Amino acid sequence: MKRKKRIATVSLAGCFGCHMSLLDMDEHILELMELAEFDRSPLTDFKTFSRRCDIGVIEGGCCNEENVHTLQEFRKHCDVLVAVGQCAIMGGLPVMRNAIMHSKDPLRECLEEAYSSSAKVYNPSNQIPNDAALPLLLDKVYTCAEVVKIDYQIPGCPPSGEVLWATLAALIKGEPAPQEYHMIKYD
Ligand code: SF4
Repeated sequence: MKRKKRIATVSLAGCFGCHMSLLDMDEHILELMELAEFDRSPLTDFKTFSRRCDIGVIEGGCCNEENVHTLQEFRKHCDVLVAVGQCAIMGGLPVMRNAIMHSKDPLRECLEEAYSSSAKVYNPSNQIPNDAALPLLLDKVYTCAEVVKIDYQIPGCPPSGEVLWATLAALIKGEPAPQEYHMIKYD
């Protein structure tokens, strides 16, 4: 009997919308369960890999050192890596902070705007969070492909459940992921 393929998923700097879309593949979720099992993933709540995986699904880009470390772990433990959604491919909303890269201290400027200067944020202390347990922010937001080799990119915010299912179904069969125009959305 053929073994089930193993899939791992993660949300880096993402909003979990791409994971919601993964669950939005309707009845195909039952077919997926026949063909594959989930390893490290928010869907299983496994925080580490139990074994090598065939497919890694990445949501979100890299904003902090923990994101980079996690992405490198996925590259190490997965045969094929699929970046899903605009955040993983282009950086998404977090990448807006890259627009002030030219300023003298862009990271500080960004944090001051978010926590100290902005009148809209409820933050009575005006303190920028600096707990040692917080992961260190990177100088800018990086796309997944800037950090590790990515095998497939599925655009959309989020990509549809249909294209996620078609992608996983093809990869499970050992075929290349379909990139059919009508399935891909760019918003
Ligand atoms: Fe959320 Fe859209 Fe980013 Fe996916 S691409 S993590 S849905 S913001």
